[in-house]
Amino acid sequence: MWYEKHAGVNSTMKTKARKYNKLKLIKNLNENEWIVQKMDGYNKTDYIVRMINGKYTCTCQGFTNNNTCSHVLAVKLFQECHDEKNKGR
Ligand SMILES: [Zn+2]
Repeated sequence: MWYEKHAGVNSTMKTKARKYNKLKLIKNLNENEWIVQKMDGYNKTDYIVRMINGKYTCTCQGFTNNNTCSHVLAVKLFQECHDEKNKGR
């Protein structure tokens, strides 16, 4: 599965990441930047996920603590869904 290769990921984050995609709360700002919009019952603000030097970063506290977060996961999932031709598995 798409998430198994990411260390430090728990099931809550996976569920959240899927939800963000389901509710279409992720928007591509440009090639290396995404906005993850707030989700009722989870967040009060939007977060920005950026790709910097091949690595994802997020503006939320969870990312600062864990080096990964549901927003980054959500963007990864978002990209997989929108990049069918790169699936090659
Ligand atoms: Zn985050």
